[in-house]
Amino acid sequence: MEAAPQPPKLLCDEMLKGLCRWLRAAGYDAEQAGNGERDRDLLARARATGRVLITRDRKLQEHRGADGTLCFLECNGLDHCARELSRKLGIKWHYRPFSRCLICNVPLQPAAAEAATTVPADVRDQPLLRCPRCGRIYWEGGHVRRMREKLRHWAATR
Ligand SMILES: [Zn+2]
Repeated sequence: MEAAPQPPKLLCDEMLKGLCRWLRAAGYDAEQAGNGERDRDLLARARATGRVLITRDRKLQEHRGADGTLCFLECNGLDHCARELSRKLGIKWHYRPFSRCLICNVPLQPAAAEAATTVPADVRDQPLLRCPRCGRIYWEGGHVRRMREKLRHWAATR
């Protein structure tokens, strides 16, 4: 039996910070390029870490060895980019919603019981998740619900 294909690991260039956050929200391992990181270094980092570099920068395509490491987007605007990524990389926007920290890109863990004292009273009974790196607590508030709706919408439209 063949193993299920691994979800792609991603690296977003510095123009695609918003998209990177949404990829993390969908549960993908998505790193963000540093400010001013050079094209050559970005490509090398993508290759060394087995990531696909997502960019809208045509210059990057001309680099030697960019093939296979690069996903070039022609989209404008978030909705358009989300669909283009589904087409080109098979991104499933309902993959594992809110399983990673939006800031640190590390998998979330169940929060300790004490975390309940740090969140609004009306969400205290929910299962809370915590980022092991930055300590941020995640819960199903209005913001997360709105993001989930967008992920569902992207997952349903191609
Ligand atoms: Zn974090």
